[in-house]
Amino acid sequence: MTVRTRIAPSPTGFPHVGTAYIALFNLCFAKQHGGEFILRIEDTDQLRSTPESEKMILDSLKWLGLNWSEGPDVGGPHAPYRQSERMAIYKQYALELIEKGHAFYCFATADELDQMRAEQQARGETPKYDGRGLKLSAEEVQQRLAAGEAHVIRMKVPEEGICTIQDMLRGVVEIPWAQVDMQVLLKTDGLPTYHLANVVDDHLMQITHVLRGEEWLPSAPKHQLLYQYFGWDMPVLCHMPFLRNPDKQNLS
Ligand code: GLU
Repeated sequence: MTVRTRIAPSPTGFPHVGTAYIALFNLCFAKQHGGEFILRIEDTDQLRSTPESEKMILDSLKWLGLNWSEGPDVGGPHAPYRQSERMAIYKQYALELIEKGHAFYCFATADELDQMRAEQQARGETPKYDGRGLKLSAEEVQQRLAAGEAHVIRMKVPEEGICTIQDMLRGVVEIPWAQVDMQVLLKTDGLPTYHLANVVDDHLMQITHVLRGEEWLPSAPKHQLLYQYFGWDMPVLCHMPFLRNPDKQNLS
């Protein structure tokens, strides 16, 4: 097995020192094992992503000598390496999950979901998607799709039990399924969320090890479940601690 790692920045602002820190560990880990380190641009958030930000991030990583062997600027066998150029791929995988019964359509409007959350909070509950889309009959779903009603695709998530994540750094991490939302995979505009695009691309780009910041640990159950739903091997996960100032504040 060739070790393949990646840095997957979202070009939504100025370069962040955390991106360089995570890139450094991915690069070193790949080189230590004679593998490849690649760069993928995660610009599924079309409102916040800009070419200027992408250029600044790439320039700053290059300036630091954190060089990749595949990426949007150098190409490679898994091109394109910019998610905005891979949009057709993600939809096909979201539909595959619907067909397999692992995902479902939801037609709830933003107002309905706001109301749902307000009611949950009034009852002292943590706001969470309540599975309303799962209660629709197959006929109703077909009718509403045929009528062109706005919808998203969400993944099914168990409501009870504990999800066990094996982390290279932390060992076994347990997260109750009750804390995991039925994540939107495909938005009303037909574009994927980070979670779907990230899992699909890590698989298609044959990533073997995902070293990333600990802020992504709560997403690991969703990702692990997506790998299971697709029947794919999951890369080894390694959630790195935040970079902190001496006063323990996160570096901005
Ligand atoms: N696009 C994500 C970020 O900006 C990547 C997270 C990951 O490595 O999975 O940090």
